[in-house]
Amino acid sequence: MIESVATFQNADAAGEGTSIGHDWQRDLARAVRSSAELLRRLGLSESQFAGLLADVQTRSFPVLVPESFLARMQPGNPADPLLLQVLPRSEEQAQVDGFLSDAVGDLNARRAPGILQKYHGRVLLIAASACAVHCRYCFRREYPYSDEPRRLEDWDESLKTIADDSSVREVILSGGDPLILNDQRLEHLCRRLEAIPHIDRIRIHTRLPIVLPSRITDALLSLLTGLRPQVLVVVHANHAAEIQLDCRSSLQRLVQAGLPVLNQAVLLRGINDCVNSLEDLSTALMNIGVIPYYLHQLDRVSGTAHFEVPTSTGLSLVSELQARLPGYAVPRYVQEFPGATGKTPVA
Ligand SMILES: *Cc1c(COP(=O)(O)O)cnc(C)c1O
Ligand code: SF4
Repeated sequence: MIESVATFQNADAAGEGTSIGHDWQRDLARAVRSSAELLRRLGLSESQFAGLLADVQTRSFPVLVPESFLARMQPGNPADPLLLQVLPRSEEQAQVDGFLSDAVGDLNARRAPGILQKYHGRVLLIAASACAVHCRYCFRREYPYSDEPRRLEDWDESLKTIADDSSVREVILSGGDPLILNDQRLEHLCRRLEAIPHIDRIRIHTRLPIVLPSRITDALLSLLTGLRPQVLVVVHANHAAEIQLDCRSSLQRLVQAGLPVLNQAVLLRGINDCVNSLEDLSTALMNIGVIPYYLHQLDRVSGTAHFEVPTSTGLSLVSELQARLPGYAVPRYVQEFPGATGKTPVA
């Protein structure tokens, strides 16, 4: 069954020494892969939406929704905030001024194959090109993943770049989604980073605990808690309705294992651009020990303009949020500018 995962975009989830039969790999193989199926499962019809993209039009970034995520959507609701994150709309094909394929300057930040550095002391490693879900607003939907290392041996040069630069103290595993690697590949990568004396922290940027909670296995927890560098997990949920059921318990397992868990969200039109929705998200996270970290202004990547919320609206939402929640529960509202020394507070 894993073959359908492997052929879908690349072989990340399979890789060397694949252990077919893990529940999470089965769950990924069984994910919904078409709009028609998604709508059918929710009891919705195309006529309830203005301008959907047909499956043949989204071949390079097709629908991908694991059953667990689908189970948290409300049947019969065309405005469901989870559905709207994954359903392809014809607006994606609109050319809008100011929306570019490399809006965040990733290609200028490439230091070695698979390694991006924009900020002091930390580098981002593109550990995998695949994800377990396809978010229509994705800022890396146009990233040229095929240029990056595939096999473990291909990482030698990039890991040497990190080993030769003692100013790098933290490696962020990103992608794609790094947890789509099987345990063996993930462990291999983490052990090689652990062997670099100046690496103090490994940060994992992942949406799998949210969209494919079965990925959080005991074996994964013991890998992440058994490394010399401190591991931090940064998840990505945009709406409180995501933090339910198996997702909620997988986040609790990460927290109970002693890992710092932070959330980043993207401010998205029609999905979380109201103060109640942002408040509910922060509350749902805090109540299980997950700290709201960033609220990102949408990166202006081609095909995502219909998700953009003006920064003036974002600023007033965040100030209302500040009036309702403790300081630690208010995410930093930030924007990414090419060439900046860190994420920039929206002002
Ligand atoms: C966003 C990002 C980071 C992480 O930034 P923090 O503020 O440390 O969370 C690191 N490197 C790159 C290239 C990034 O885009
Ligand atoms: S999980 Fe992240 S990288 Fe993957 S499609 Fe969604 S936003 Fe993009």
